[in-house]
Amino acid sequence: MTYDVLIVGGGIIGASIAYELSKYNLKMILLEKNPVFADETSKGNSGVIHGGFDPDSHKIEARLNVLGNKLWREEIFKDLFFPRAQVNSLVLAFNEEEMKHIKMLYERGLTNGVLEQDMKILTKDEVIALEPNVNKEIFGALLCTSSWAIDPVRATYAFLGAAKQNGLETRTNAEVVGIKKDQNDEFEVSLKSGEKIKSKIIINAAGHYADEIAKLAGYPDFKQTTRRGQYRILSREQQGIVKNICFMVPTIHGKGVVVAPMLDGRVLVGPTAENGVDKKDTRLVTSEMWDYIGKIGTKIIPSINLDKTEISLAGSRPIDIETNDFIIKPAKENKKFINAAGMQSPAIASAPAIALEIAQLVKETGIKFEKKSNFNPKYNIEF
Ligand SMILES: Cc1cc2nc3c(=O)[nH]c(=O)nc-3n(C[C@H](O)[C@H](O)[C@H](O)COP(=O)(O)OP(=O)(O)OC[C@H]3O[C@@H](n4cnc5c(N)ncnc54)[C@H](O)[C@@H]3O)c2cc1C
Repeated sequence: MTYDVLIVGGGIIGASIAYELSKYNLKMILLEKNPVFADETSKGNSGVIHGGFDPDSHKIEARLNVLGNKLWREEIFKDLFFPRAQVNSLVLAFNEEEMKHIKMLYERGLTNGVLEQDMKILTKDEVIALEPNVNKEIFGALLCTSSWAIDPVRATYAFLGAAKQNGLETRTNAEVVGIKKDQNDEFEVSLKSGEKIKSKIIINAAGHYADEIAKLAGYPDFKQTTRRGQYRILSREQQGIVKNICFMVPTIHGKGVVVAPMLDGRVLVGPTAENGVDKKDTRLVTSEMWDYIGKIGTKIIPSINLDKTEISLAGSRPIDIETNDFIIKPAKENKKFINAAGMQSPAIASAPAIALEIAQLVKETGIKFEKKSNFNPKYNIEF
C-alpha cells in the first residue's frame, strides 16, 4: 500500500500540516520518533502567538506570523479546544535607546500588517498602571493586544486528534532512518524498526533533524544550527506578580526574553540564547544558566521570588544557516519532497499559515487534491 502523503515529525508544525491536509481526500501517515508527540522544540518554548511586529518585514516569518495570528484567532480557536488565553504583550524599554527600538517595532508591526488598533506605545505611567510590579526604571513600552498564550503540546495533540478523526494515521517510536525512490518514482521510507513505508509525497517537519532527513533523501539543500533557550518556571505562589507577557527589547537582549504568566498559574522566566549546542542536547538544562535567567526575572520584575523555581525547561530554535528564515519549499530536485524547516520563533504563531502554504505545495505536485465532503473540524483535547 502507498500513502499519498507521509509527514516526518510530530511537533506542532507536522501536526498543523496534518490537520490542514486532512481536509482533503489524501491517504496520510505521520511518523514521530519519540514515544509521544510534541516532546522536542514544541515543548520547550514560550507558547506565545505573537502579534507579528517583531520579524524583519522582508522575511517569510513576518508574513506568516501575521496571517497565522489571524488564523489561530478566527479559525483554529473556533474548532479546536485546548488551553489558551488572550494575554497582552509588553515590550519594555529601560532607556532612550530601547525606546527608539520600541518605535521601530511599532512601525515594523504596521509594515508587517499588524492592525493599528492592536498596538500602542505606552508612557512610563501607562506601563506601571498595566504592570504594577514592573521595574520602576522603565521608560515606556510597546503594548500589543493581539497576542495569545497557548499550551503548544496540547495544541499539537488537538491538531493530531482532529486530523486522526478525519483519517490521518500516526505512529510513535517510528524513527525514519532511510529514504529512497523506487522504480515507480515513489518514496520508500525505512524505519529504525526495519519496517518500510511507501508514499508519493514526503513532508519534512523533523525540527532540528530536518536538514538530516533532507540529506537522507538525497536533497541536502540546507543546513540548520541550534539556539537553545532555557527557562525557570516559578510556582503558583508567584501567580499575579506579572499580568502581561513582558518582553525585553528584542535584538538588544536576544529575542523573546520574557517574564510571563503561564496558563497553569505558574510564571515563566527566560529563555537564554545559546548558539550551536549539539542537537542531542537541545533540551538540556544547565546549572551555569540558572543565575543568568534569574537576572532576567529581577530586571523585569524586581520583587519576583526566584527561590520559588519549581521546574526548569529547555528547547532550541532550529535555524536555517543561509537565510535565518522559515524554509517552506520543495527540494530543488523534487517537488514531491517538501520541507517545513528552519522553524524558529514565530513558527508556533505562524503554524496554521505554514500549513496552508504546505498544502498549496502539495497541490502543486499534481496529486488529486479534492476536499472531503465529510470533514469534521471540531476536536476537544481532554487532558
Ligand atoms: C526557547 C524557545 C522559545 C520559543 N518561543 C516561541 C513562541 O513564543 N512563539 C512561537 O511562535 N514560537 C516559539 N518558538 C519556536 C517554536 O517552539 C518552534 O518553532 C516549533 O515548536 C517548531 O516545531 P516543529 O514541529 O518544527 O519542531 P519539533 O517540535 O522539534 O518537532 C519535530 C519532530 O520531529 C521528530 N523527528 C526528528 N527526527 C525524526 C526522525 N528521523 N523520524 C521521525 N521523527 C523525527 C522529533 O522527534 C520532533 O518531535 C520558541 C522556540 C524556542 C526554542
